[in-house]
Amino acid sequence: MSKCAWVTLTTNDAYSLGAMVLAHSLKRVGTVHDLVVMITPTVSEAMRSRLREVFNLVQEVNVLDSKDATNLAILARPELGITFTKLHAWKLVQYEKCVFLDSDTLVIQNCDELMEREELSAAPEVCWPDCFNSGVFVYRPNEATFTSIIEFAAKNGSFDGGDQGILNSYFSQWAHTDITKHLPYTYNTAAFAVYSYLPAFKEFKNKIKILHFAGKVKPWLLNFNSETKQASIPPMFTHCGDFIQLWWNIFCDNVHQRLSDQMAGLAGALAQVRLGEPRSSEQEAYEASMRRQCWESGNIDYTGKDSFDNIWKKIQETLEMKPEAPAKSADDDNDKSSVTPPEIEIKATAQKLIASNVTTPKPARSTNKPTPQPPARQKSKKSK
Ligand code: UDP
Ligand code: MN
Repeated sequence: MSKCAWVTLTTNDAYSLGAMVLAHSLKRVGTVHDLVVMITPTVSEAMRSRLREVFNLVQEVNVLDSKDATNLAILARPELGITFTKLHAWKLVQYEKCVFLDSDTLVIQNCDELMEREELSAAPEVCWPDCFNSGVFVYRPNEATFTSIIEFAAKNGSFDGGDQGILNSYFSQWAHTDITKHLPYTYNTAAFAVYSYLPAFKEFKNKIKILHFAGKVKPWLLNFNSETKQASIPPMFTHCGDFIQLWWNIFCDNVHQRLSDQMAGLAGALAQVRLGEPRSSEQEAYEASMRRQCWESGNIDYTGKDSFDNIWKKIQETLEMKPEAPAKSADDDNDKSSVTPPEIEIKATAQKLIASNVTTPKPARSTNKPTPQPPARQKSKKSK
């Protein structure tokens, strides 16, 4: 067989956690192909040495950034300009055929047969099925193709500011020419419920080969209990909670022991956590910082620590800590009936905020609507 490889990309130590779990997921299903990770200079030395243990090739590449703030703002994903770096994948000419996988994908079943497909094969983008999702695609490394895509990008830009826009424009014939280049959706199934057709997800779940955590909420950003080794599954991921747990099981079995506190950010914090042991102060510090990150990315643990009751308790504590109010005048009592007490107003505002956060998850790419709607059929089922 010709020389083939699975290729991924990571530009920092956090996405490297995804790359490591992805690599082990490929090994777990017994792939016969090489594993390649492209890294940028921003990946720490400690992480590089760990990546070298699991990937056949760790290829440093320079950052290519679309710097297209306008389109990235429409997508609400400013970080995705950097995904232009993906285009370096065409320079891996030591391989004849490759499959690129985003580092937020998880291989569930062996799919070595993908290497038999031709460039450019990919699965439909769930939000716009006449485009392909660029989280999984089959391609042929070739310097001339690389140059041609870069020239095309320089001339035309990317309609979404990321690699997916440029690749869909460059390989625009994908939509309507050769059906063999349309991969089944099971090779790139979106995990996020808003983008899923839940009855179909249930029906075809056992056929899923590659799951893709597209969108802002990545498995490594979810709350994880190091003592029980259980991830807490947010409501929009309930249908695929077992896959999220699989991600964390692979992390616990194969990745955690390779981490070191020399690594940056989350990877360094996770290195300090002891698995299966009673929670230490490091674990608590890690959980606190994770909860903060989750809050900031709109992924709030409503059923756990960040439940409404806990938030309300905190607000009350804060109110109670306030300095004494100035002495009351006789009129104050008369006003009481017409003025809403501040704590009731705060409670109402907090409830509104929580409700709006529950119903407006952050978008994944390829949608410029702030609140994507699930398919109609799914909606009617849900309301039953
Ligand atoms: N990526 C990266 N660093 C970043 C953002 C993205 O290394 O800061 C890489 C990584 O391989 C990632 C891919 O680019 O999987 C595409 O980004 P992402 O998966 O976040 O996009 P989405 O699938 O959510 O649209
Ligand atoms: Mn992705």
